[in-house]
Amino acid sequence: MTIIVTGGAGFIGSNFIFHMLEAHPDYRIICLDKLTYAGNLSTLKSVMDNPNFRFVKLDICDRDGVYKLFEEEHPDIVVNFAAESHVDRSIEDPSIFLQTNIIGTSVLMDACRKYGITRYHQVSTDEVYGDLPLDRPDLFFTEETPLHTSSPYSSSKAGADLLVMAYHRTFGLPVTISRCSNNYGPYHFPEKLIPLMIANCLNDKPLPVYGEGLNVRDWLYVEDHCRAIDLIIHKGRVGEVYNVGGHNEMRNIDIVKLICKELGKPESLITHVTDRKGHDMRYAIDPTKIHNELGWLPETKFADGIKKTIKWYLEHRDWWEEIISGEYQNYYEKMYGDG
Ligand code: NAD
Repeated sequence: MTIIVTGGAGFIGSNFIFHMLEAHPDYRIICLDKLTYAGNLSTLKSVMDNPNFRFVKLDICDRDGVYKLFEEEHPDIVVNFAAESHVDRSIEDPSIFLQTNIIGTSVLMDACRKYGITRYHQVSTDEVYGDLPLDRPDLFFTEETPLHTSSPYSSSKAGADLLVMAYHRTFGLPVTISRCSNNYGPYHFPEKLIPLMIANCLNDKPLPVYGEGLNVRDWLYVEDHCRAIDLIIHKGRVGEVYNVGGHNEMRNIDIVKLICKELGKPESLITHVTDRKGHDMRYAIDPTKIHNELGWLPETKFADGIKKTIKWYLEHRDWWEEIISGEYQNYYEKMYGDG
């Protein structure tokens, strides 16, 4: 079995590659990644010498390059993680989000049609459903919830999801889609909430929280997401969407306070910054379908996962310090000032 994993030098894609190489030692995994600011080859250094692994630097929008790779590798399955993934950056400049997230997805699926595969899996997000009100804790996103996006990021992901379903209906492409809640864990790029707060705490820097920090997110440990995708590509029904979530809703402010507590830092580091434009209030996934059909359940409790994650960032300072000292510093200063 040969699997092309796009975006495998990013956060979830790299964790998925580690999971697959361990869970399926007879599989060949090809990582296709453009290595944008969010892709980091050093993340993959532990698997670079694995004979079942190959890294290819390539843009998913590069049709000739993608077709050439399919001709060389004859993949059975394609799992598409490659995306521009940061909401704030999509508000600054939506164009690259449309290019990679929508056009790139169509190029990959055209290659799948041309060369034949047994499964194309699109890694999507709960953000395609928009948000839920804070005062209705009884409401959850199901697979039937209409797409109702708020940001250029989520709109580009929803556009890709629609295209994936269209390729299934029109061309019979054997597709599946997973829509997952917020992930956390090792190798998470330090512009996202949890790693940003851990890194700033460790450097005694202010902890910038949007507005009052009352927005609620449903957090899932990345390994649980990777197991879900492994199950879907092997046992999920073609043409279906599966929601993946941990039933672990937390307010942003509570996450930040918890990180301060775990690292023994004062909450006075917290600074409230102007809220994100169009900021979604609450995301909450109903994962009943994947549980009933595929037997998936999250295995890592948040209390354990956050401890593991903090420990990882403490033990891998070189990984994130290199990132925050580079081009990312300019972006950070633009967003939050140089504090
Ligand atoms: P990430 O930003 O950490 O990684 C994205 C990777 O894609 C990077 O390695 C980058 O170099 C690569 N990439 C970007 N543009 C590319 C292109 N044109 N061609 C090839 N490679 C390209 O993202 P992530 O957090 O790991 O998210 C992965 C996927 O999961 C995304 O599709 C995202 O929408 C989805 N998702 C993320 C979360 C989350 O909490 N992080 C939750 C649900 C779904």
